[in-house]
Amino acid sequence: MAGVSYPYDAPVSQTLFDRAAVVTPGGVNSPVRAFRAVGGTPRFMVSGTGPYLTDADGREYVDLVCSWGPMILGHSHPEVIAAVQEAVARGTSFGTPGEGEVALAEEIVARIEPVEQVRLVSSGTEATMSAIRLARGFTGRAKVIKFAGCYHGHVDALLAAAGSGLATFALPDTPGVTGAQAGDTIVLPYNDLQAVHEAFHTHPGEIACVITEASPGNMGVVPPAPGFNEGLKKACADNGALFISDEVMTGFRVSKAGWYGIDGVKPDLMTFGKVMGGGFPAAAFGGRADVMAHLAPAGPVYQAGTLSGNPVATAAGLAQLRLLDDAAYEKVDAVSAEIRTLVGEALTKEGVVHRLQTAGNMFSVFFTGSEVTDYEKARAQESFRFTAFFHSMLSQGVYLPPSAFESWFVSTAHDAAAVERIAAALPAAARAAAQASEGEK
Ligand code: PLP
Repeated sequence: MAGVSYPYDAPVSQTLFDRAAVVTPGGVNSPVRAFRAVGGTPRFMVSGTGPYLTDADGREYVDLVCSWGPMILGHSHPEVIAAVQEAVARGTSFGTPGEGEVALAEEIVARIEPVEQVRLVSSGTEATMSAIRLARGFTGRAKVIKFAGCYHGHVDALLAAAGSGLATFALPDTPGVTGAQAGDTIVLPYNDLQAVHEAFHTHPGEIACVITEASPGNMGVVPPAPGFNEGLKKACADNGALFISDEVMTGFRVSKAGWYGIDGVKPDLMTFGKVMGGGFPAAAFGGRADVMAHLAPAGPVYQAGTLSGNPVATAAGLAQLRLLDDAAYEKVDAVSAEIRTLVGEALTKEGVVHRLQTAGNMFSVFFTGSEVTDYEKARAQESFRFTAFFHSMLSQGVYLPPSAFESWFVSTAHDAAAVERIAAALPAAARAAAQASEGEK
């Protein structure tokens, strides 16, 4: 961001960031948080209430990141907090089975028909890593098909052309992943069924599974073309491979049953995270009972976790899921539509070429004139316009994801007052996007 300065600062956040950089690589515990794609000082948040976050400098922001998806009821929802407090008072980890994890598994199985059995883990990365191991163990095959622009966590084998964080940093691959670890991964363009058929043709009897984001949100929001997920399912079934739908982002967010609740395509295995943890580290993978039966201790495929099914995390997740009824999703969908309309109107008014893409209540803005159907098209956008737009919104108290390659997230707590603050900030941000030039990138 050399040469670009913004008319505001954040001295306390800056001091914390300086301290952090001494003891933590890049000053953050997850790369996109560092603001490297947009420049400037990342805001250190100290509290969240409803649709608002407050930073260490005492500034309040309307939050359109929602912890990258989990906070679908807004921050500090009283019933989730009460469930957490009640659980904490009983102890924080036992390393034994507990009723909370049974209840959370039952809730997931009740909501999502293809999930007959589920295993709880602590992160989305663990969920996809374990699902792939299970698919390989079940089929006795090694190869995995993934799509460019889809992110499935930082699983070694899946860090090829993996969207958001990597798009943000323009790292085509990552050092530390060996040829052996990535050698069985076949990366194909998203929304290209022909490429999938060709891969199955080229590698007969070798492909264990196809993993895809149910509806990708990690290259910006790029929904599947009509028939794409159905085609993947059929290609897998025809070739003895498993179809894994990664719903870590979409699960319990875009509907009661996630993206499955929208497109109805039945995967063999699914992965979940984010919303199901209520803001705590809880994630899961599940699916066909005959496949899940291969998992230890029922079967030979090993998988484990000291904190898996943690009582506090499961209490938070269960409380959140139980509050997510049809009315809650209607509310999130409605506020998402309202904000999208406002963003579109403001950009159009300033003559900014853009495209709003949506998947249920998830959405993102691409600064391009053409439909974005894959990673290559996502990367072709004028992301320097996003940088200007982002900083203008931030300076006016609206917190967007600090990258042009991320979904925006809203919650049931985004009320009229929060929407009004967004509306008030948009004209200047749209003007900044219109005036931005490539050199500022
Ligand atoms: N899968 C998808 C679709 C994701 O969006 C993410 C995280 O953003 C992951 C997997 C990894 O989840 P986690 O960050 O909890 O490891």
